[in-house]
Amino acid sequence: MVAPGTRPFGRLDGRRAFVSGGAQGIGAAIVRGFAEAGAHVVIGDLDFARASALAGEVGAVAARVDVGNTDMVLAIMTQHGPFDIVVNNAGVDQHAFFTDTTPEDWTRLLAVNLVSAFACTHAALPAMQAAAFGRIINITSEAARLGSKGGAVYSAAKGGVIAFTKSIARENARFGITANAIAPGPIRTPMLEAAVEKGGDKILRAMTDATLLRRLGEPEEIAAAVLFLASDQAAYITGETIGVSGGMGVGG
Ligand code: NAD
Repeated sequence: MVAPGTRPFGRLDGRRAFVSGGAQGIGAAIVRGFAEAGAHVVIGDLDFARASALAGEVGAVAARVDVGNTDMVLAIMTQHGPFDIVVNNAGVDQHAFFTDTTPEDWTRLLAVNLVSAFACTHAALPAMQAAAFGRIINITSEAARLGSKGGAVYSAAKGGVIAFTKSIARENARFGITANAIAPGPIRTPMLEAAVEKGGDKILRAMTDATLLRRLGEPEEIAAAVLFLASDQAAYITGETIGVSGGMGVGG
C-alpha cells in the first residue's frame, strides 16, 4: 500500500537534501538528480568554486566544508539545515601498499571516508527524529566487501561505513528514518581518472575485468540508485548495502 501523500515515483518535491562532496563526480550527479526531482539541495564540498558553479546551474546552494572537520560540519549543517535527506558521499582514496602508508595517511583516510559520515549523520539526526522522517544514504565501495590491493585503509574505512549504516538503521527505524549504503564499482569520475593516470591502462583493464558487465559505470548510474533510496517509494528498505557495480560483488 502506498502511503497517503506519497510523491509520484522519482519525485522529491519539498525535500531538503545535503550532499557531501557534491561538486564533482558521483556527488555532482546526485545533486543534479535531486535538483531535477524537485529537492532543495545544499552541496557541501571543500571545492567551493566548483560547488558554487554547479549550484548556480541547478538552483542549489553551495557551502564550503571539510567533512573531515567535525566542528565545521556541525556549523555548516546547522546553518543550512534541517535536512530530510543526507548523502554522505565525500571521500578520498590512496593507492599504496599498506606497508608504504603512514599513520598520517590512516588518520586522513578515516576522517574523510568514515568519521565524516558520523559527523554529518550526527548533525542531521535530531531534526529528522523530531520530524519523524529521514533518509541517510552513505556511499561506500565494493572495496569494502572485497578488499583492495593498494587500498587497505580505504577499504577498512568503507567497511566501517557499512557497519555504521546498519547500526543507524537499527537505532532510527522507530523514527521513520531509513539508512542505506550504495557500493559503487569503478565509476568514471575524476577520482577514478586520477587512479588510471597513476596506474595506466593496466589498472583500467583490471577494474573493468572485475565487473561482469565489463565496463566502467557512470556517475548517473549511482545517482539513480541514490534517488530511489531517497524517494517515498523506498520507505521499506533500510540497513541495506546495494551494489551498483556491474556485478563486481559477485565476481568476474
Ligand atoms: P571525486 O574525487 O571525483 O569527487 C569527490 C568530491 O568530494 C570532490 O568534489 C571533492 O572536492 C570532495 N571532497 C573530498 N574531500 C572532501 C572533504 N574533506 N570535505 C568535503 N568535500 C570533500 O570522487 P568520486 O569518484 O565522485 O567519489 C565519490 C564517492 O564514491 C567517494 O566516497 C568514493 O570513495 C566513492 N566511490 C567511488 C568510486 C569510483 O570508482 N569513482 C568507487 C567506489 C566508491
